[in-house]
Amino acid sequence: MELREYQRRLDSAKSSYKTIFCEFCGEETLSGTEKSYCSNCESVVASEKHELASKNPMLVESLDKIRSATAAGDFDTVLNLYAELTKASQSPQLLYCHGLAYVEYSNLLISKIRYDLNGFMESNARARDYGFKMLSEAKRLFAKSAYHSESAALSGNKSADLAYNLILCLLRIGELRRAKRVCDELESANEHADYSKMLLYITSAEYQSAAVIAERIAKAENPPINIFYYIAFLNFKTRKPNPLKMLSMLKGVIDPAKLNHLAEAITADSIV
Ligand SMILES: [Zn+2]
Repeated sequence: MELREYQRRLDSAKSSYKTIFCEFCGEETLSGTEKSYCSNCESVVASEKHELASKNPMLVESLDKIRSATAAGDFDTVLNLYAELTKASQSPQLLYCHGLAYVEYSNLLISKIRYDLNGFMESNARARDYGFKMLSEAKRLFAKSAYHSESAALSGNKSADLAYNLILCLLRIGELRRAKRVCDELESANEHADYSKMLLYITSAEYQSAAVIAERIAKAENPPINIFYYIAFLNFKTRKPNPLKMLSMLKGVIDPAKLNHLAEAITADSIV
């Protein structure tokens, strides 16, 4: 997509979309349709915050705490809050987000490893061990979430949202063949088929194929806001122009940490 067309579509989304609230991770996302994909965790979300707050104020309060503790890098608090939430409800999406919190914690710990320390670098070894423990706990939760989604499907729940959650979990645990099979099944229902196939191609590093789908989604009416992030990402991966410019246009729309992370990768790549 040309930069000018990207800008035009993004501007129109920014001015006409409403804000929806993720009932699994607490992120707010712009959406031009009833349902969309959370710009943080990628779950399918549909509620506005005030609607959810009137139905379940305790949940909204916990999710607000989760967002602010995540921003502060306080993952002990985040994990405690998720442990409370998943005690009350074993929804597959909540289990998936609980797993994601472990991944983020692990990433934070591993990023703190310093190779310039003298001696036996015991603190590094501790950070590495703990980081790997967090990752294996994340995988356990993704597998559990996948199991719950599949069991629901086997007992007759044919929800496309659940099948999509199953795909997210399978991608996280690296079961790409199974993920592809579920993607193919979604094709007949159409809902989430393109978007989940794009995520599958991205996870498989098949960036050209992912880019074709991303462009198609972006050109449809009221595309999900995340597609603009993926177009910038895929322009970077397929060596097309302007990924940094596209990212800078997403300020205030996509989580700044996510944007910074990709901007750093693009900058480091252009220096090499
Ligand atoms: Zn979310």
